[in-house]
Amino acid sequence: MNPFEACLSPSGRISPRQRRLLLLLWFPLAAAAADYPPVGVEMTLRRVSEHVYYVQGASGIATDNQGFISNAAAVVTSQGVVIVDALGSPSLATGFLALVRQVSDQPLRTLVVTHYHADHIYGLQVFQDQGAEIIAPAGFEGYLDSPAATERLAERRTSLAPWINDRTRLVRPDRVITEDTVLTLGDVSLRLGYLGATHSDGDLSVLVEPDRVLIAGDIVFEGRIPFTGSADTRHWLAVLEGLQREGLRALIPGHGPAASDPEAAIGATLRYLRYTRQQMAAAVAEMTPFDEAYAATDWSEFSHLPAFEATHRRNAYGIYLALEQESFQGE
Ligand SMILES: [Zn+2]
Repeated sequence: MNPFEACLSPSGRISPRQRRLLLLLWFPLAAAAADYPPVGVEMTLRRVSEHVYYVQGASGIATDNQGFISNAAAVVTSQGVVIVDALGSPSLATGFLALVRQVSDQPLRTLVVTHYHADHIYGLQVFQDQGAEIIAPAGFEGYLDSPAATERLAERRTSLAPWINDRTRLVRPDRVITEDTVLTLGDVSLRLGYLGATHSDGDLSVLVEPDRVLIAGDIVFEGRIPFTGSADTRHWLAVLEGLQREGLRALIPGHGPAASDPEAAIGATLRYLRYTRQQMAAAVAEMTPFDEAYAATDWSEFSHLPAFEATHRRNAYGIYLALEQESFQGE
């Protein structure tokens, strides 16, 4: 009946209470399924700490695995549930919400978007329709108001049919943050760290303070090459250096598994950005053309990582162009 697998305890068993709750919730979810055709991919809710759960998308490009390629997290408190990121389709969001409902019947209070990229926002309408306040970092409009956002949605209605369809809509945030902001629910406080233009035009991360768990969005990539796009990699590096001092116990990235060794995960992204910037900066300083500099650089520390071929050359080129700009600004 339910294509999603629950993983709620080490034994994977669902308690009688959770089973009753699931049956109670099945009716509204079945109604929603008419709008949101169910996906056939496996989705497992994993517990990371006392209050934090997440689901992990598969590795791959945006249209792989029925669009389930990014992560979403739930922070469950005695005063409500906060969701972080909305997955890549309303159908995936519906499935995720059903799993969260197996562990909590608390009201859905807030949905925090780490950044506005398609793979993290297409499920937003599901949470909005449930009454959650949607919070996003300033800079979201850089994507949402661009022609790329509407063009991407039109394209995904074909490439991710039937899960992305005419009823899938782009959702604006209810509240936009421009600085670090604390949300408190019962005895759990969440620090929304405003990161500015980092991986996208506006990013934030969520630190669940009592658990020391960071839900990082796409600024930390575990075991693969980051996608840097038009990111401000200088600012990104500074943010990661700050995070290394937070004493984190676990870190949930936007893609890939939760890291039980957060310092190592942050360190891997940090080393990648720092090395690529250093190499490209040397090329810019010597006015070496990009192709020549790229070919002459030793990338062997990273070349074994997934997504290297598809992503790294473009990253390096974007960083090269940004460093050229920085050098013209006399920095
Ligand atoms: Zn992403």
